[in-house]
Amino acid sequence: VLIATVCSPISYFPLKFALSGSTPPEQTCESREQRSSYLKHRTPELPPYLLSKLQAYERRHRRCGPLSESFNTTSPLGTHNDSAGGDCKFVVYTPSQGLGNRILGLTSTFLFALLTDRVLLVDFSADMGELFCEPFPNSTWLLPGNFPFKSEENVKKFKMRHFRDISQNSAPALLQIFLQDKYNEYDKLFFKDENQGFVERVPWLVLIHDGYFIPCLFQMQTFRSELEKLFPDQETVFHHLVKYLFSPSNQAWGQITGFYEAYLAKAEERIGFQIRVFEPKQTPFTAVMKQITSCTQKHRLILPQSDEVTLRNETSKSILVASLSRKYYEEIDWMYGRRRRQSTGIAVYQASHEGKQHSGDNSHNMKAWMDIYLLSTSDVLVTSSMSTFGYVAAGIAGVKPWIVMIPDPYHPRGADEPACERAINLEPCFHFPPWFAYPDPPGTGGLVGRCEDVSWGLKLV
Ligand code: GDP
Repeated sequence: VLIATVCSPISYFPLKFALSGSTPPEQTCESREQRSSYLKHRTPELPPYLLSKLQAYERRHRRCGPLSESFNTTSPLGTHNDSAGGDCKFVVYTPSQGLGNRILGLTSTFLFALLTDRVLLVDFSADMGELFCEPFPNSTWLLPGNFPFKSEENVKKFKMRHFRDISQNSAPALLQIFLQDKYNEYDKLFFKDENQGFVERVPWLVLIHDGYFIPCLFQMQTFRSELEKLFPDQETVFHHLVKYLFSPSNQAWGQITGFYEAYLAKAEERIGFQIRVFEPKQTPFTAVMKQITSCTQKHRLILPQSDEVTLRNETSKSILVASLSRKYYEEIDWMYGRRRRQSTGIAVYQASHEGKQHSGDNSHNMKAWMDIYLLSTSDVLVTSSMSTFGYVAAGIAGVKPWIVMIPDPYHPRGADEPACERAINLEPCFHFPPWFAYPDPPGTGGLVGRCEDVSWGLKLV
């Protein structure tokens, strides 16, 4: 496991960093211009202070980022003083896990960059290069392909040291911080106020993580007052940031709108089901369906009355089923679509069924992105417990989802637990907070609370 890693200064520069393997910034981003007619929920205006902070960020990104003059002479592995990038400081996000996790991880890293006056760069490998428009005008967030610390060989040369060993006096040029689910007690010290002064002096931070750690930023004294100014309504932090950062590329947008226009556009109401089963071999299909149907029936999410009532003149509805498996689509189609189409005007669709999660596959990730965005056009969302995929869809949609508690052999649930719960807001759950995040530390005023679906998780409330 790579833990908070300090890299000793090595001279690899000056380098002309070629943007190999990355797409040039698109001239126009069609989804950014058109999405408001697809996402039905009206997004609240960006708070004015957040807007001005984002504009300042964009200027900084242009000035320091990979397309700037200063970046070409920046020395990521030199000492702070060597760095020709002057006052430019960077945070590099290294993705891991699936698309939902990556979007949460990137969003958290971006907010950290915003708060610490850093420039965010992403280390997308080929499997994600074509999914998004460049978020920052006239620049790129992609880390150049030939960047020194991307090379395995170079990384191996670096000294690795725990946070606890780091001298408070000498800040390294580059610090790699590991914050994934199995991160240890020392890595967790990143979330302690007393270490932020040190972190601040490191010009290049590389974060390896996949979670939504924003609730922990709100708990830190260092950032709290600025965060409260940026987000007067802290229930929409993710909603604002995810929509700002992630716009489908023109290629992805063509696929999303093509499917939407062909199947979903005509319905008066769209219902999105996101069904994520983490252990399909050990989780009976019938147990998952039971949870889904008890949720939809109890809360009348599809039919206004009992499932048994035949309804004529019902509003026309389309149901989108997003799942790796086709079985859930077939069952829901049988229950609500085929069996009732004559009487209710409900139609059920699925855009893809990939079977299982792949890694390093661009077209697989494109389908995942398409499903997330199609889900986010829903008026009603039914998502799966513990799934970051569902958190992202709900966040983009601006729709509080019904979270179905999917049976999980490793985390059995109580028999009296409800089949689903309505999310209290649009904020994702941070699945792996450090132990000292509980209970809400004194003075944080109940900013964070428990998640609906993960008893050990933490979310903004
Ligand atoms: P999580 O594992 O549910 O938290 O979500 P992630 O997005 O992090 O990882 C799951 C990955 O599995 C996705 O990125 C996709 O690659 C794939 N996947 C899971 N559910 C779906 C789905 O409904 N549709 C598609 N197309 N892919 C999915």
